[in-house]
Amino acid sequence: MNGKVWLVGAGPGDPELLTLKAVKALAQAEVVMIDDLVNPQVLEHCPTARVIRVGKRGGCRSTPQTFIHRLMLRYARQGKCVVRLKGGDPCIFGRGTEEVDWLSQHGVPVELVNGITAGLAGATSCGIPLTLRGVARGVTLVTAHTEDDSSLNWAALAQGGTTLVVYMGVAKLSDVRDSLLAGGMRAAMPVAMIENASLPEQRTCYSDLQQMQQAALDFQLKSPAILLIGEVAGRSAATASGLLEELRVAPVRMA
Ligand code: SAH
Repeated sequence: MNGKVWLVGAGPGDPELLTLKAVKALAQAEVVMIDDLVNPQVLEHCPTARVIRVGKRGGCRSTPQTFIHRLMLRYARQGKCVVRLKGGDPCIFGRGTEEVDWLSQHGVPVELVNGITAGLAGATSCGIPLTLRGVARGVTLVTAHTEDDSSLNWAALAQGGTTLVVYMGVAKLSDVRDSLLAGGMRAAMPVAMIENASLPEQRTCYSDLQQMQQAALDFQLKSPAILLIGEVAGRSAATASGLLEELRVAPVRMA
C-alpha cells in the first residue's frame, strides 16, 4: 500500500513565507526530508515527524539524487505520508520534476506545492519591482550554473529588455558579466546582489554590470545570493535613500 509524497516549496527562508498548503502538508507528514536551504524553523509545523536532512551542503557534501529518490520511495511504500521540503519553489531550479517523474513511474502519488522562489522574495525584500510599467516588460529567471550543459543565449538575454534574475551566480559573476557585455548589454546596467534574501541576515550589494564582480568581492558576497540585473535594480528604496554610502559599495550609475 503506497503512501503519498508532497513535494513542497518552503520559500526563500522567512518561515512566514510558507504557504498554508505547505503548513497543512507538514502537519500530516510522518517523514520530512529537508534540503539545507530550508529554514529549520519551518519544522515547528511537524513536531512529530521523522526529519531526515538530505542537504547538499554541510557535513555530507552531496546526498546523491538517486539516494533521495530511493528513500522517498521506501517510505511511501511503507504507506507513509512523506513531505519533501525544498528551498524556494520545488520546480524553479529545484529538480522537482525529476522527483515527480521518478515517483510517478513507481506508482507513488505525488502532489506539488508551490513555494515563493528566492528571486521574487529577494526583489520584494529590497523594494525592487521586477516588472515596471515603461521600464521592464518581463522577467527572466536563469541559472548561471552550467552543470547540465544546456546553453543559454546570453546575447538574447542582454538585449531582451527583461529583468534578469540569476540563481547560483555567486561563483560565476565574471562569466555572467562577460557574457552580457559581449551580448551588448550596457556596462552601466544596474545590478542588485541579494544574499540570504528574506532572512534577518539579508544583505544587498548594489552595483552595475561592469563593476559587479569587484563590488561583490569588496562586499564579501556569499551564497546563497540572487543577482538582479536590469533597469529596475536601480529603483529600490535603498538606492533612493542614499543607503549606498552606508553600505560602502560601488555606486549605482543611472542612465
Ligand atoms: N528552488 C529554489 C532555488 C534553488 S537553486 C528557489 O526557488 O528559490 C539555489 C539558488 O537559489 C542559490 O544558489 C541562490 O541563487 C538562490 N537562493 C536560494 N535561497 C536564497 C536566499 N534566501 N537568498 C538568496 N538567494 C537564494
